[in-house]
Amino acid sequence: MGAADGRFAPSPTGALHLGNLRTALLAWLFARSQGSAFLLRIEDIDRGRSRPEHERRQLEDLRALGIDWDGEPLRQSTRTEVYREALERLRADGRVYECWCTRAEIREAASAPHGPLPEGAYPGTCRRLSEAERAQRRRSGRPAALRLDARGEVVTFVDRVHGEVSGAVDDFVLWRADGAPAYQLAVVVDDAAQGVREVVRGDDLLDSTPRQLLLARLLGLEAPRHAHVPLVLGPDGSRLAKRHGAVTLADLEALGETPADALSWMAASLGLAEPGERVTAAQLLERFDPERLPREPTVLSPRPRAAAR
Ligand code: GLU
Repeated sequence: MGAADGRFAPSPTGALHLGNLRTALLAWLFARSQGSAFLLRIEDIDRGRSRPEHERRQLEDLRALGIDWDGEPLRQSTRTEVYREALERLRADGRVYECWCTRAEIREAASAPHGPLPEGAYPGTCRRLSEAERAQRRRSGRPAALRLDARGEVVTFVDRVHGEVSGAVDDFVLWRADGAPAYQLAVVVDDAAQGVREVVRGDDLLDSTPRQLLLARLLGLEAPRHAHVPLVLGPDGSRLAKRHGAVTLADLEALGETPADALSWMAASLGLAEPGERVTAAQLLERFDPERLPREPTVLSPRPRAAAR
């Protein structure tokens, strides 16, 4: 549809908090202000943690803020075969290997210095196994995860908020040992399938982008542009979470506050409204200028949750 077709891709594993909702609002503002489509994707590949009631509530919350989208949301749980095809293409190119490392083994190995890779990156232990060692591990019956042989490639891209960003790609997981496709693979395949041209998301995912761009290149998919927007933090400066008190629309409702109040807070936190000013999403669209987006995270002031009744 448009050169800046965008999306919001929530995981239905809990309620959206004010930070998630503000990111959704920004993604919508970026796309709609450029006359582009805005798509939704339900990232429910983690079947154990995804719940239909969370999904329902997430969509209701978006609507309550005045965020609309085009067409039906794409549901990742229906797309395993598409992800598998992508995996097989990478395998045919010799870019996939089995990994039997436990979390503890990875933590230990990753703490040793290993060249240009970022801290905590997988150092490629299982890539260096001999055929005999591989056969022995297969016989053990312990299921393997599948990793990309990233060959330490460095990916550079220009982010609309952060400018030029460079990152060395580690051998990340494509398919989990529990049989589920991994987030990185699903995102890349789906952004291409949905025709997403501009990914707007929280800047906690900035580190994932070099991986996703490498994957898109290896799969021959057109890669989107990126804008990683600042997060909302809890009063203690850590990533916003339930323990920070009233952080979801339902929490606010229990305190007598409406979605309009939440929208007003978000707009003010982004410099798009005066504190306490009533605004609609449509008005924000007129005021929004991607160049004037704050670069710093917003720290939420403490708001106790209403006592359970
Ligand atoms: N599903 C991811 C999340 O909720 C977002 C993925 C993305 O925007 O690329 O954190």
